[in-house]
Parts: sequence; C-alpha cells; structure tokens
Amino acid sequence: MLPRTHIILGALLVILMWIINPQIHWYYLAITFIASFLIDFDHYAASVIKTGKISIPRSFEYHKNLGKAKEEERKKGIRTRGDFHLFHTVEFHALIGIIGIFFTPLFYVFIGMMFHSMLDVFSLLHRDVVYQREYFFFNWLRKRI
Ligand SMILES: [Zn+2]
Repeated sequence: MLPRTHIILGALLVILMWIINPQIHWYYLAITFIASFLIDFDHYAASVIKTGKISIPRSFEYHKNLGKAKEEERKKGIRTRGDFHLFHTVEFHALIGIIGIFFTPLFYVFIGMMFHSMLDVFSLLHRDVVYQREYFFFNWLRKRI
C-alpha cells in the first residue's frame, strides 16, 4: 500500500478516534497518526541497504521496480518473499504493545502500527500476494543462521 494511502487513512483513523473520544490529548492523536505511516520507514531502510542510495525518490523507484518484478513472478506462479521489514513483524508489534501498557505514548504508537499493518494485510490479501511478507522476526532470523 502506498504511503499516501496510509497517510490519508491514518488521518481518518485519528479523526474517528477524536469523534469517539474528544478528551484524547492532541499529541496522542498526533502520535497515532505519525505511527500509522512512519512504520514504513523499514521499507526505506531496506532500499538503502539493497541499493546503497539514501535518496527517497530512488527508494520509491526501487519499490516500484520491485513491485513490477514481483508481479511478473506472481503471474508465472513463482511465490517468493520480498524484503524483510522489521517494523512490520508480529514480534515488533508485541514489543511496542507490551511497552505501551506501561508507557502511554507507545500505546498510541501501537494503535497506529496495528491500523497500518491491518491495512497492509488487507491490501496483500486483495492482491493475492500475502506470501511475499515475512511476518515473524524469529522466522527471518532462523533462516539466516
Ligand atoms: Zn506497511
């Protein structure tokens, strides 16, 4: 899912949260909003690692080309994983969620992340490419050892 879609839907989420509970402090809404799209920073990090370039437009180009290559593979029946994205793993969500029990700002980061990941999974299911993502950090780690 494109960052702009996450930004728009993240804004709608915090507007809905504010309508449901106008007592929520604005910075908690801001944290939720920012978390709902900044979780994709790991996509940028993956492109920097793969290409050695820190340019954001290059990162978008990298992902556009990767998306095309993956789509060609899918059409041929080849089902491989894409880049590893640490912030999108179940373990990272759990870690932020647990810390969020004790540290309120991270609770709102957790809400933004969960919303983001839910949208990602819907998008992956819709495009029939749910196999492309590694959802578990320890799975990824185990394959590297
Ligand atoms: Zn994402």
